Amino acid sequence: MNFVFRRDELLVEETSSVLPDQALCERIGLALQPIWSTPDSPCRTVHVDPALEAPEGYAFKKLRSLFGVLDDERMALAGRAYQIAEWARTHRFCGACGTPTERVAHEFCLRCPACGFSAYPRISPAMMVLIRKGDSILLARHTTTATSRYTALAGFVEPGESIEETVHREVYEEVGLKVGNLQYFGSQPWPFPHSLMVAFTADYVSGDIRVQEDEIADARWFGPGDPMPDIAPRISIAGWLIRANLPMGWTAP
Ligand SMILES: [Zn+2]
Repeated sequence: MNFVFRRDELLVEETSSVLPDQALCERIGLALQPIWSTPDSPCRTVHVDPALEAPEGYAFKKLRSLFGVLDDERMALAGRAYQIAEWARTHRFCGACGTPTERVAHEFCLRCPACGFSAYPRISPAMMVLIRKGDSILLARHTTTATSRYTALAGFVEPGESIEETVHREVYEEVGLKVGNLQYFGSQPWPFPHSLMVAFTADYVSGDIRVQEDEIADARWFGPGDPMPDIAPRISIAGWLIRANLPMGWTAP
């Protein structure tokens, strides 16, 4: 399979979203690099110049917009390919001494031949938490989203933190609440650009909602009888997490 990226866009056939075959890639002069092989499908990838136009019948489409368009397996491979290609693109030189790095066989590692510094693909863990209080759940609308969508709280792990500590810190910072009884829910790689989202549920313990205004536009308890707001789609872990804890009477698409 050939994954051709232009920034965060993937080259696909315009109407069917099929990936370009080897003949097409060769015809337009792309030098794809193998990144890994499965028994039946070697995967190759390349980052092209931002000015490159798609060949006729093809289009560069935002990787994010292909969720639900590509099948799940292909989407997972595209996300993996994007993260590895982006890592290779941004680690061509040693971050410590500036020498060109070399690919180490059999692992995702770019090593500096001069000082031995090794660079691995970056993965940024983040937590997501849905807080429950009796029959209600806490959902928030973020200042950064242009939509009226409400979702669970989320935030990146900081150096030296356990993921549970991140949950407690972010919940307190974003909405001023104390929570307990953290339960692991699931995780999802999110290649925009390199997150690993780890989701939990938690129970409300104490405090009144006090939003961090630069990040949260609104946060409130939603319970039985409340109208359902616009919520995260089913493709994201936020969508699964909320759908697994819907207040009575809500039905989500
Ligand atoms: Zn070096």
